[in-house]
Amino acid sequence: MEKKNYYCEYCGHKFREVRILVAASCHRHPDGSGKGKHKLYEGSEKSRYTCRYCGRQFSSIRVMTGGTCLRHPKGTHKGRHSPAL
Ligand SMILES: [Zn+2]
Ligand SMILES: [Zn+2]
Repeated sequence: MEKKNYYCEYCGHKFREVRILVAASCHRHPDGSGKGKHKLYEGSEKSRYTCRYCGRQFSSIRVMTGGTCLRHPKGTHKGRHSPAL
């Protein structure tokens, strides 16, 4: 059986195990770089990911969260894109 990959919702980093993901600090955490842990993305692995705020599509969560979002709830470009499930 093929092993599943797990992704961080904030930075798109790929992990083999959830326990490692939730224990390591995230450089794209919304409170600031390294201010919190990675958060498990609970959606499935896909070829395109859609931002829940602006609807833009990206090829990976890593690419998506590298950019700030025009329609972020905190204000225009005040936060990063976030993947919808
Ligand atoms: Zn992360
Ligand atoms: Zn967006």
